[in-house]
Amino acid sequence: MIAYLEHFVHENDSETTLHQQVSMDLEGTIDYTSTAYAGKDFGGLHASTPFAVVTPSGTHDISRVIRFASQSPNLTVAARGNGHSINGQAMANKGFVIDMKRPSDAVIDVIHCDVGYAVDVGGGALWEDVLKRCVSKFSLSPRSWTDYLGLTVGGTLSNAGVSGQTFRYGPQTSNVTELEVVTGNGDTVICSHAQNSELFFSVLGGLGQFGIITRARIWVQPAPDMVRWIRVVYSEFDEFTRDAESLITRAESESFDYVEGFVFVNSEDPVNGWPSVLLDPDQILEPGLMTRSVNRVLYCLEVALHYSKGNCSSTVDTRVEKLLGRLTFMKDTLFQVDLSYVDFLLRVKEAEKQAKANGIWDAPHPWLNLFVSKASIADFDHFVFKKILKDGIGGPMLVYPILRSKWDEGTSVVLPDGDIFYIVALLRFTNPYQKSPSVRDLVAQNHEILQVCARNGLDFKLYLPHYNTEEGWKQHFGDRWSRFVEMKSRYDPMAILAPGQKIFTRHQP
Ligand SMILES: Cc1cc2nc3c(=O)[nH]c(=O)nc-3n(C[C@H](O)[C@H](O)[C@H](O)COP(=O)(O)OP(=O)(O)OC[C@H]3O[C@@H](n4cnc5c(N)ncnc54)[C@H](O)[C@@H]3O)c2cc1C
Repeated sequence: MIAYLEHFVHENDSETTLHQQVSMDLEGTIDYTSTAYAGKDFGGLHASTPFAVVTPSGTHDISRVIRFASQSPNLTVAARGNGHSINGQAMANKGFVIDMKRPSDAVIDVIHCDVGYAVDVGGGALWEDVLKRCVSKFSLSPRSWTDYLGLTVGGTLSNAGVSGQTFRYGPQTSNVTELEVVTGNGDTVICSHAQNSELFFSVLGGLGQFGIITRARIWVQPAPDMVRWIRVVYSEFDEFTRDAESLITRAESESFDYVEGFVFVNSEDPVNGWPSVLLDPDQILEPGLMTRSVNRVLYCLEVALHYSKGNCSSTVDTRVEKLLGRLTFMKDTLFQVDLSYVDFLLRVKEAEKQAKANGIWDAPHPWLNLFVSKASIADFDHFVFKKILKDGIGGPMLVYPILRSKWDEGTSVVLPDGDIFYIVALLRFTNPYQKSPSVRDLVAQNHEILQVCARNGLDFKLYLPHYNTEEGWKQHFGDRWSRFVEMKSRYDPMAILAPGQKIFTRHQP
């Protein structure tokens, strides 16, 4: 088998010869022809040609594929969650792509530990399925989410997993107690804080470099019934950040359960302007709201409060009024709706449906995600939101604060300095049917933003990072680079895994 492989890689142009010969005794399936989907991703900026796509029947298949690849001179293996990366991170050009997505693995088991409940979920489970299963079967819910739940457990844990609950519970990587991982050596290892902890922390936020997550044990808590979802508007950035930071640093009983925010354009534009603040088609904008501020961009604070069905609406109103009472948003800019907890968490699903219907879901998405320190966020507003992006980006421009203390410093995620930092997510949508800037121009604008930040000495790190050079990665990891390299040499010494991240080059056996 190995001889055939070497023959293929070095001399043989006819891939079918190999296809007929490669046999790994898989219990799942291997496909050499219908592989095009695995050579694309949500970003739509990169393309590749996988050698084959494997749909594993279990952990043993994943191990076999990795061991098989390790015997070849140059085959690589990429786990593909839901392919919602932007820059080809889940691709393996001429390598194996393992299609991890598996709805049936949503919740395998509920575990009662000394300190609470946890659920075992498959690495390829979609978070939306985890949510539905946990709530409907057990009335339980994970504590920390992403805004959009069509992402896999393994995919977000390989990055961080951030949303409006992160200020309280930390990212999704801080809400895992145990992992089952198949390393780049092909070994299946159970790891946790106490057991094989080096692997556990390396894998969390590890960009798929050390192993493939096949199971995760995730903290859960009783699921709330209902959510009051609220948006208020600020004219001035310093008032917006002061209120947002106050909410994330207050005691739990004195704050909301979810805190986010976004920047929008002071115009009637349906995508970039005031209409993007409305939560419900029935809500209307009071005439004159737009002229209330002379500023070109404005800021929307988005918060949510959990409550139970038994609470009467006046109790919820009183609580909300009390919490909002201490904030300094623009008068008459309070928008709110009540919805079930599950509908709130699935809120982006509706936007996905609409975007799919009008063709913009499948068009390219040159997104840029950053963590910016509190010390630099006013400069970011000045140089980027108010200048470069003053006309909007055709999609959300999220900006909200997060507490560093809720992040486990031992994971592979890299953060800027300070106790508070902001996530900035520039979620650009392009419309294939309208005249709009070319994707190349938008990518160039992302580069310009990074250059402006660097030139002006802003303290920031890329989230969902993407670099093409080792120098870029070294700079990203800073003094943590040597540890990252050491862990790679221990758990994936031949650099077989996640080649699409472009961090390491495949070694010869
Ligand atoms: C519409 C949309 C909304 C988003 N919203 C948020 C948000 O609110 N918060 C947030 O934090 N992020 C958000 N993201 C980013 C998202 O978390 C990442 O892109 C994530 O990697 C996507 O998950 P995926 O399952 O599609 O992973 P993929 O894109 O398939 O894979 C990402 C990386 O992880 C590796 N990988 C995948 N599965 C595994 C596994 N089981 N074990 C080890 N490595 C694995 C892959 O090889 C690849 O390197 C969003 C993305 C999109 C497209």
